[in-house]
Amino acid sequence: MSVKVGIGFDIHRLVEGRKLILGGFEIPYLKGLFGHSDGDVLIHAICDSLLGAIGGSDIGQLFPNTDPRYEGISSIKLLEEVRDLVEKKGFKINNVDSTVVADEPHLEPFKPKISAIIAQTLKIDQECVNIKATTNEGLGEIGKKEAIACYAVACLEKIK
Ligand code: MG
Repeated sequence: MSVKVGIGFDIHRLVEGRKLILGGFEIPYLKGLFGHSDGDVLIHAICDSLLGAIGGSDIGQLFPNTDPRYEGISSIKLLEEVRDLVEKKGFKINNVDSTVVADEPHLEPFKPKISAIIAQTLKIDQECVNIKATTNEGLGEIGKKEAIACYAVACLEKIK
């Protein structure tokens, strides 16, 4: 059995006048994540973890932020494309784990909804998608509520 692991990281600035989309879910908050797409830092980190596991570069290269096709796009669409790439390369996703680093908002109430959306998109069981949340203890840009970051790890199995 050939098992591959990939890691992903992303950070986006929190700005006024944007919706806060995390894991494809709109979270009620006074600011949102800035980005060429919807700025979904969690999905971007997960995409990179999957791409890392298949040795498939990164989302910045796959979906350049200079490409008008990706302007304002739902990052779930990017995750669908990455999922298709994973399938095409003969891999099955075992599990995805993630840690969102945000001093605000409190994400606990939204975790089940978010993991359900990601599991559905990846076509895996919800128990195989883990979302963790932590704060940055008031430190740095995240602590000042000027940014949200996310780490993700994916474990894949080569089946073809
Ligand atoms: Mg990003």
